[in-house]
This record gives sequence, C-alpha cells and structure tokens, in this order.
Amino acid sequence: PCLTREGFLSIPNVTWDDVGGLDSLRREFYNNIVAPIICPDLAKKFGVDSKPGFLLYGPPGCGKTLIAQAVANEAGANFIHIKVCQVFEQGPGCVVISRPLRSIALCLVESVLLFRSGLWHNLLPAYHCICPELLNKYVGESELALRSIFSRARTCSPCILFFDEIDAITTKHGKEGGLVVDRLLTQLLIELDGGDQRKGVYVIAATNRPKVMDKAILRPGRLGTHMYVPPPNQEEREMILKALSRNKPLDASVNLGAIARSKACANLNGADLKRMVRFSFLL
Ligand code: ATP
Repeated sequence: PCLTREGFLSIPNVTWDDVGGLDSLRREFYNNIVAPIICPDLAKKFGVDSKPGFLLYGPPGCGKTLIAQAVANEAGANFIHIKVCQVFEQGPGCVVISRPLRSIALCLVESVLLFRSGLWHNLLPAYHCICPELLNKYVGESELALRSIFSRARTCSPCILFFDEIDAITTKHGKEGGLVVDRLLTQLLIELDGGDQRKGVYVIAATNRPKVMDKAILRPGRLGTHMYVPPPNQEEREMILKALSRNKPLDASVNLGAIARSKACANLNGADLKRMVRFSFLL
C-alpha cells in the first residue's frame, strides 16, 4: 500500500467469503465493475458503462461497506474509503464528532470553546455534515480536496472510490447542508460527469438516508444504479454466521442454523451478529 495524504490506499483483504448472503448484489457488481476491470475488451464489446456509479442504501450494519471492499478485492482494484461524518466547521484542525454524540450540550460546550478561541464566526454555519478530508472553511478548498481525491483515484486506477454516508455531502441544495455542502455537491457532480477522465474510477456510495439526497446526483450517469441492502432474513443470518465463524475453531455440536432461527437473533443485523460471534469466542 502507498501512503497518501488522506491515508492508506490499498486493495482490501475482504473477500466474498466474508460476506453472508447478498448474492444478487454480488452479480450486479461483477457485471458492472469486476468484469470490465478483468476483461476490458469484452466489456467494451458488450457496451458496458465505463464509468458507472452506485448507491447502496439501507439500514446501518447490513454490509454496505463490506460489499464495496469485497468488490474491490475481487476486481484487484485499489480502494479509497472516504468516511463522511459529522464535523464542526472549525478550519484545518476540525473537530470530528460522530453522529450519536451530537447533542445540544455538546454544541454548547463547543460553541463556548470556539468563542473563547476567537473562532466565533465559525458558529454561524452551525453544524455541517462534511467529510473531514474534504472540510475546509476557505472558499474553494473543499472542492479542491474533492478534485484531488478523484485525481488520486485516476492515477491509481482501476480504483474504487467509496463514499460512506454520502448523504452528508449531497443533501438537497439549500437544505440542511449549508453553503459548503452545496459547493461540494456541485463539485461532486462535475467529477462524476468527468467524461473519459473518469475511466477506471468506479464510484460506490452508501447511505442510510437516500431520501434527503439531491435528485441531481441520483441520475443515470452519476449515482444512477440504486441498490437496497436489506436487513438479513433468517436464512441470511445463518449465512452471515457461517461467514463470520469461517476461520474460527467451531465445535461440531454448534448449530448455526438453530442460532439464526432463535428468537434472540430475530432482529439482529450483520454488525450485531459480528459482535455476538466475537463475544462468543471470547468467552
Ligand atoms: P453503516 O451504514 O453503519 O456504515 P454498513 O451497512 O456499511 O453500516 P458494514 O460496515 O459493512 O455495514 O458492516 C459492519 C460489520 O457487520 C462488518 O464489518 C461485518 O463484519 C458485519 N456484517 C454486516 N453485514 C454482513 C454480511 N452480510 N455478511 C457478513 N458480515 C456482515
């Protein structure tokens, strides 16, 4: 892996064996990303879109990030993970705050700190949802950062750019995001429309809130393919349990099917099952 300004760039070591269920998504990604990377001539013959964009949407913890990593691994493509989270706009040394922590009390404490440090003007835009890598209070800097992420992806293509929680930088114009988010959205549209320049750069975005996203980004040619990643059903929970305990020393008497069918597992998603498996092996 090569070290870049925003972090490590590498081919993920997550494979489809680590993913339980979600076979239809695997097929779709194979046809649109993996096959064109592995057999570019064939993909050209069949007229496969050379710069597709995907939106994975659905409840948290159901495998959106995992799928994107498995696709990159299967295609042997580089993977850039851009994690979008709640931040308070405070210039280059921004404070990153995760969603659950956002509370009125926290806002007040930070407001006081900002006020005392002379950065009170940053209170005006209030809370923004901006990717920390993209955040900069100076006009044009955020767009520049986004451009540089795409340019980095081009230089190490084939590359999958994965935008986690994309809704945070693509809310409808003039709505909850504020000016910086509006500018970032416009820049993102420009990058996605990037013609031949985008060749070899595959964009996958994930969100739990597709409804708040600007329609312009959801158009064909941008993030035009929308795929629902559902919470697992009983059968899928068993597949997930099998995937999660694949390399673990599992006693022959353990019946993963019965566990998946049990009442206790009825509403568990992949992330919950992962926690459960990890806990079981620690006991
Ligand atoms: P969020 O929307 O909160 O980002 P997500 O949908 O991206 O969540 P992941 O981060 O991919 O969810 O999943 C969290 C963890 O749960 C994964 O690291 C994985 O271990 C486990 N997991 C989720 N879904 C599956 C699955 N289908 N098969 C195997 N493991 C899974």
